[in-house]
This record gives sequence, structure tokens and C-alpha cells, in this order.
Amino acid sequence: MAMYKDGSYLSPSTCDVFEEEQLPGAEAPFTGLYACLGCNQEIALNEGDRVPPQNHHYHHASQGAIRWKLIVYADHRAKAALSSALPAANF
Ligand SMILES: [Zn+2]
Repeated sequence: MAMYKDGSYLSPSTCDVFEEEQLPGAEAPFTGLYACLGCNQEIALNEGDRVPPQNHHYHHASQGAIRWKLIVYADHRAKAALSSALPAANF
């Protein structure tokens, strides 16, 4: 599971892109962290990178096919001041 220490760098989103499944070899639509839906393995990809091929790791039959989902989007735009540019975490 992805972890963080300072929640001010993360904010929740309801964007549909977090629901999209990426198949092995597909082009990553965004820079960020992706999790395999079968085994929860996590990887970091840059926008435009190829998602790892089918033989990246092994799944038992019960885990299904390897599919990746964006779990953390990395916003690469510059921020003037981090504390004022990012919304506060909703906890
Ligand atoms: Zn997996």
C-alpha cells in the first residue's frame, strides 16, 4: 500500500481516471503511482510510459489478469507556495 508522511501533498479526487484499468503494454495516461488490481503491487510511471508487459510478475489464477489502476496522480505543475497551492486534506 502506498504510504505518505505529510498529507499536505495529497488531496482526494473523484476524477474518473482513477477508475480506468490499464492493460499490460498500454500507454500510461498520467504520471503517478499505479497498483495492480490482482495483487496490489505498485509501480511508478511517467505519462506516456508503457505499462509493464504481461510477464512483469506472476499471478495465481485467483488473482486474474494483470491490470493497472492509477492510485496517486503526480501533479508536475510548479506551485508558488505549497501550503497555499494545495487544498487541505479532508480527514
Ligand atoms: Zn499483480
